[in-house]
Amino acid sequence: MKLILLGPPGAGKGTQAKRLQQQYGIIQISTGDMLRAEVAAGTPIGNEAKAIMEAGQLVSDDILVRMLGVRLDQPDAANGFILDGFPRTVPQAEALDRMLANKGLQLDGVIELKVDNATLTERIAGRFSCAKCGAGYHDSFKPTAKSGVCDVCGSTEFVHRADDKRETVAARLEAYHQQTAPIIPHYASTGALRSVDGMADIASVAAQIDALLAQAG
Ligand code: ADP
Ligand code: ADP
Ligand code: ZN
Repeated sequence: MKLILLGPPGAGKGTQAKRLQQQYGIIQISTGDMLRAEVAAGTPIGNEAKAIMEAGQLVSDDILVRMLGVRLDQPDAANGFILDGFPRTVPQAEALDRMLANKGLQLDGVIELKVDNATLTERIAGRFSCAKCGAGYHDSFKPTAKSGVCDVCGSTEFVHRADDKRETVAARLEAYHQQTAPIIPHYASTGALRSVDGMADIASVAAQIDALLAQAG
């Protein structure tokens, strides 16, 4: 299965992608996670991307398209993948079309999570994740079962993203509406686009996505 999860920052893409990864045995490809790993490792790409990410802007299409091309060529992508955070611009969507065509691959679906700006801001403000295994949580909407302990790996260390500050969130939402939303008509025109009510709770969003995937066969 080859899917794109599309939606603004904080919509729940990562949460749903991690679940789909487990449930369907396909890998999550998060370009945000890949960029954060480059920043942490201090690579040339990371050094170039760091300030742009902290300002809530988009890293260049060139870098992203190259990064995704390398990732899709890795053997674990052969069984299928969920793209989380890519494509984010019309040129990235066009580059993805070419990459898939060259490999003789077709998308099974593009799932859009629709969430309003006030809710996104609230979700991002409470987001944190496990420093050890990356499991994602929310102060109010998805707390750990035992306070201060990761449900998945038992670690007691957690991190907040550098760009999840209130000042940066407005810039990220703006980037989404200006640069990413224009790819929605692209996928609507190919017939691949399916929209989901992302305002619902995590389990209901999951159920809506599963129903769509069951339809897609
Ligand atoms: P979110 O979870 O808020 O949607 P991501 O983790 O996907 O955010 O991305 C974090 C940041 O990484 C973005 O604000 C942007 O700076 C950069 N980034 C991630 N994916 C892309 C992409 N496809 N194109 C350009 N920049 C990207
Ligand atoms: P994205 O990857 O689209 O930026 P995340 O999956 O990281 O979004 O979700 C953002 C925050 O909101 C996280 O703290 C997550 O636990 C929480 N969250 C995700 N989906 C929902 C939902 N349907 N209802 C309430 N909170 C949610
Ligand atoms: Zn953990």
